[in-house]
Amino acid sequence: MLSLYVDGDRWHDHLHRMTAAQPGLVPVIKGNGYGFGRERLCRVSDDLGADIVAVGTYAEVEQALRGSRAAVMVLSPWRPFEARVSYHPRLVHTLGRIEDLRSLSGGDARAEHPPRVVLELLTSMLRHGFTARGLREAAAEVGDVEVEGFALHLPMTQGSHLAEVERHMEDIVASGLAVAPSRRVFVSHMTDAELARLAASWPEFEFRPRVGTRLWLGERGALRPRASILDVHEVERGDVFGYRGRSAPKHGHIVIVSGGTSHGVGLEAPSAGASVRDRAARLARGGLDAAGFVRSPFTIAGKQRLFAEPPHMQASMLFVPAGTPIPAPGSEIPVQVRYTITDFDRIVVS
Ligand SMILES: *Cc1c(COP(=O)(O)O)cnc(C)c1O
Repeated sequence: MLSLYVDGDRWHDHLHRMTAAQPGLVPVIKGNGYGFGRERLCRVSDDLGADIVAVGTYAEVEQALRGSRAAVMVLSPWRPFEARVSYHPRLVHTLGRIEDLRSLSGGDARAEHPPRVVLELLTSMLRHGFTARGLREAAAEVGDVEVEGFALHLPMTQGSHLAEVERHMEDIVASGLAVAPSRRVFVSHMTDAELARLAASWPEFEFRPRVGTRLWLGERGALRPRASILDVHEVERGDVFGYRGRSAPKHGHIVIVSGGTSHGVGLEAPSAGASVRDRAARLARGGLDAAGFVRSPFTIAGKQRLFAEPPHMQASMLFVPAGTPIPAPGSEIPVQVRYTITDFDRIVVS
């Protein structure tokens, strides 16, 4: 079993601190729900008092509308082929192209209300959105939609975003679309300091940060991922194991642990910081990683162990040299995960 143990008090304290410091914060609930599952994050967002949450795709809309009381903003821009949910009083679309604006505003004749939209501007991310000129064109064509604000998705660079955001703010103002109640700008990946500066220089606007990682995963110390040991087999040098008929490099144990590709456990690069010189030194010593064994994210006896072969669907095989105490089957060991791609078998909140 691949489990995530959550120190509930510590995690909730962190969530409350974040939302208190940033009252307009829009929780982002997408993909695998940052490892927690989207349903749980919807419930938690309601408890935090969020009036709006953001999902990644239209496929995620229905569950969010059911799972939360908040308005649901879709981060992927609306496209004419997204017919899944056309109108819902709590649904907010993102628009980034003039043809989509025309298409949506000409849209569903049965809807009693115009669809709620935010207009996204093309940033240096170069993902989606209107250019300054496109936004002026859009202003001339805004038909039957309710513009509730603008959106800016910024890259995760180290440098300041302020100069770029200032430019986009000028474009928003120049478009003439920023009249109440649409003087609202949803931003992604800005620091607290940048937000404070912006709020000070554009007091008539409301800035609403859309936050996922820093919110849900911002208190890593509250999260303990653990994998169960499923089986342990002693092997001598030369013993054959695994799908590929590989042979054991020396006396030791093949240890089968929970967590495979279906959980999002993949082959990891040997070591994030390993320099060419480190690698050369290991090759000279003739270590196991030099023999083509790759470091796994599973820790036994305080050390990250090597995969005996690439992870399977629900389990992984590790090789542990003789002399290392191996916990009995049923015990749990620490594992490093990438939360945004991990599907845990269970989540235990204490
Ligand atoms: C995913 C996403 C976010 C949240 O990103 P995090 O790095 O998880 O905080 C914000 N804005 C947009 C447009 C996104 O796609």
